[in-house]
Amino acid sequence: MNSRYEVVIGLEVHVQLTTKTKIFCGCSTGFGQSPNSQTCPVCLGLPGALPVLNRQVVDDAIKAGLATNCQIAPDSIFARKNYFYPDLPKGYQISQFELPICEHGWLDIETEGSGKKRLGITRIHMEEDAGKLLHNEDNSSSVDLNRACTPLLEVVSEPDMRSSEEAIAYLKQLHQIVVYLGICDGNLEEGSFRCDANVSIRPWGQKELGTRSELKNLNSFRYIKQAIEYEVERQIDVIDAGEKVVQETRLFDPDAGVSRSMRGKEEAHDYRYFPDPDLLPLQVSADWVEQVRSSLPELSAAKLQRYQDEMGLPVYDAGVISADRQLAEYFEALVEQYNQPKICSNWVMGEVLGALKEKNLTIDQCPVSPELLAGILQRIDDNTISGKIAKTVFEEIWQNGKTADQVIEEKGLKQVTDTGEIEAIVAAVIAANPGQVAEYRAGKEKLMGFFVGQVMQASKGKANPGMANALLKKKLTEM
Ligand code: ADP
Ligand code: MG
Ligand code: ZN
Repeated sequence: MNSRYEVVIGLEVHVQLTTKTKIFCGCSTGFGQSPNSQTCPVCLGLPGALPVLNRQVVDDAIKAGLATNCQIAPDSIFARKNYFYPDLPKGYQISQFELPICEHGWLDIETEGSGKKRLGITRIHMEEDAGKLLHNEDNSSSVDLNRACTPLLEVVSEPDMRSSEEAIAYLKQLHQIVVYLGICDGNLEEGSFRCDANVSIRPWGQKELGTRSELKNLNSFRYIKQAIEYEVERQIDVIDAGEKVVQETRLFDPDAGVSRSMRGKEEAHDYRYFPDPDLLPLQVSADWVEQVRSSLPELSAAKLQRYQDEMGLPVYDAGVISADRQLAEYFEALVEQYNQPKICSNWVMGEVLGALKEKNLTIDQCPVSPELLAGILQRIDDNTISGKIAKTVFEEIWQNGKTADQVIEEKGLKQVTDTGEIEAIVAAVIAANPGQVAEYRAGKEKLMGFFVGQVMQASKGKANPGMANALLKKKLTEM
C-alpha cells in the first residue's frame, strides 16, 4: 500500500460464450477449423445479408446478469460501433451501447488486504467478436473470419477496486461464475476470458478520479497482477517527476514485465455509435427472466456457504471443493452415498485430487466414481478394512474399476479382528524383539509405535490397529 496515493482500478472483461452457433447467423463457433470454412454472407458482411439474433446468447447474458446481481433490462438495443480494421468485414461491430441487457450488478469479494467488499458491475452487454489476422512469413497478412460474429459478453466494472489483489479476487470470482454457469470455457490463454484493466492513482482524500491508462493483452491472472502493479509504480514515478499521466492504451509485455504505450487519447476511435436498423429492439419479458432464473445451477459462493453451514466442513475444504463445479458435483454425489462430509472431503482432497494430479486428469475423467469411493468408505466404517488398507483398495479400483467388496475379497484384505489371531502375532513380535521390549519396560514408551508397526507388518496391514495397540500395551505391561 502506497502512503501517498490511492490506487483505482476498473475492469472490462470479454467473456466468449460457448454457444454452438454464432450470435447473428447459424455458422458453427467450433475452434481450429480451416480458415474461413465457418462463414456465410452474414458473418462475411456481404451487402444485404441480415443478422438474426441467437436466442441462446440472450439466455446466457441473462444468466450472467442474474448471477452477478444485475437488473435485466426489459428493453435493450443493439448498436453499430463503427471503425475500420481488416478483421471487421462490415466496417462496424454490432454491440450494445446505450441500453445494455444487464446493469447495476455487484460481486462480493474477500481479500487479506481489505476483507469483505462489494464491487459494482456497471453493465453487461452482448456483442459480436471480430475475425483474426494471420501474419505470413512473406510479410503479407491473411484474414480468417471463422471467429467473426462469435458471441461475447462484455462485463464492465465500476472503478471500485483499490489494489491488484482486489482486482484478481474480482476476476477469479467472475471467472468461476461464468464457468459454473456453463456459458464460457474460461480459458484465459486461448482468449475465452479476456481482461482489460483501467488503472489510475490519486492522492488520498481526493474525490475526482485520476487519469487512467488502459492495459491490454493480459492473458493470465499472474500477468494481470504484474501489469497493474507495474502500472501503479509507473504512474507514481510520472507524478513524482512533476509530469502528468496521459490517458492512453498500453500493451503489457509479459516477457519483459513492462507495458508500452499503444495509442494515446488523440488516436482513440470515435465510434459513431447508432442503433442498428437491421435488428429490432430486444424485449425480455419477466417470464423469460424467471425461466432462466429457475435453470441456474447453485453457484460456488452458495456451495461454499452451504458446505460450512449444513455439512460442517472447514472453510478450507469448502473452498477447495466448491471452486470447481465438477468437483463439487462429485463430492455431493459421494456425500449422498456416504453421509460423513468431512471424511468425504478428506478423501476427495487427498486421494482423489492427488491421484488425478499425478495422472494429469480432470475430475470428470476420474476412474473411481463417487459410488465406488463410497463403497470403500463404508468398509472402513464397518471395520472390514483399516484406513491404510483402504488406500490400497482405492488404487486397485483406480486400475480395474471393481467394487471395494470385490477387491477386498480377491486380495484377501479383510481386517483381522479376531483377538486370538492378533494375540498370536503380538506374542511373536514381543518374542522377536527382546531388546526393544526391555527398553520399553524401562520407560521408553514411544517404542509403542515400533511395536504396532511390527504387528501391522507381520499381518500385512490387516490387523485392526486399535486392537493391536491395546493388546500390545497389555502384553508389554504384564509381568
Ligand atoms: P471505455 O469504454 O472508453 O474504456 P468506460 O468509461 O466505459 O470507458 O470505462 C471503462 C472502464 O474503466 C470501467 O471499468 C471503469 O470502471 C474504468 N474506469 C473509468 N475511469 C477510471 C479511472 N479514472 N481509473 C480507473 N478506472 C477507471
Ligand atoms: Mg475500455
Ligand atoms: Zn455466418
